[in-house]
Amino acid sequence: MPGTCRTAPNGDADWEDWLRRCAAALKDLVTNRSQGVKTDIRGDVYKGAIPFLMTLTHNRCAYCEAKIYQSPPELEHYRPKGRIANAGIKADGEEHPGYWWLAYEWANMLPSCIDCNRVRKHGADKELAGKGDNFPLKDEGRRAWSPDDPIDAEEPLLLDPLRPGFAWDEHFAFNFDGTIQAKSEHGAETIRILGLNRRELLLEQRRQRIDDAVERMSTYLQSRITRAPFAQAKLRALEEMWEGDSDFGSFTQRALHAYVDELATEGVQVRFPPEP
Ligand SMILES: [Zn+2]
Repeated sequence: MPGTCRTAPNGDADWEDWLRRCAAALKDLVTNRSQGVKTDIRGDVYKGAIPFLMTLTHNRCAYCEAKIYQSPPELEHYRPKGRIANAGIKADGEEHPGYWWLAYEWANMLPSCIDCNRVRKHGADKELAGKGDNFPLKDEGRRAWSPDDPIDAEEPLLLDPLRPGFAWDEHFAFNFDGTIQAKSEHGAETIRILGLNRRELLLEQRRQRIDDAVERMSTYLQSRITRAPFAQAKLRALEEMWEGDSDFGSFTQRALHAYVDELATEGVQVRFPPEP
């Protein structure tokens, strides 16, 4: 995702208030759990992160980059706060309780579309895809089971696109047909879990973005050749697509790069991102 990582709006009064409410709710949760008192995780508290997350991603799903139109949007816990699918059972029969201690943790939250967040059926074959309570690790033996275990020892196979340093190109390659190609084991698992190549609407939307990107680029180039007065407007439209808040930003960037590379093979050299 271009220019996006999970930075915190430090100094913002609402943000500081949300942090205080999360700290208090977590304290209650830890205290009650240690005393064996069942305590619900408070959605009314952690969902206070939604406005900050939506600002961060320009109202896009952090995983698939589709615009989120539903209100309120889904807030996805990267490490599931409840049960975890296939997390194994300890010798004494204990099931993994989920990463409940990260329920109020900013670094564990992502804004998500319904299709990425929930396990749903997709396509003609009605295959299941979606995050749900899936959170596979490269090495199950390193999974944290309690707040005392280091989560940094884990190597999640699902990618976190808001993690500082996340690089789209390390894990994915762009295809003109709207699909994404995995370049790493983590990329392949992320595509599989979220159904990024299986969801028909998503594929159609990405294809549409490719068409838009190519059309905008060719119109801009043509307008430069003919010195048309609207060249600047076309350039702005391209720039908006390149770094703005449009949906499928990472994918669109690759579409534009691929188009420029294709032009180069035809002997047309274009500097990109474009300059006025
Ligand atoms: Zn999504």
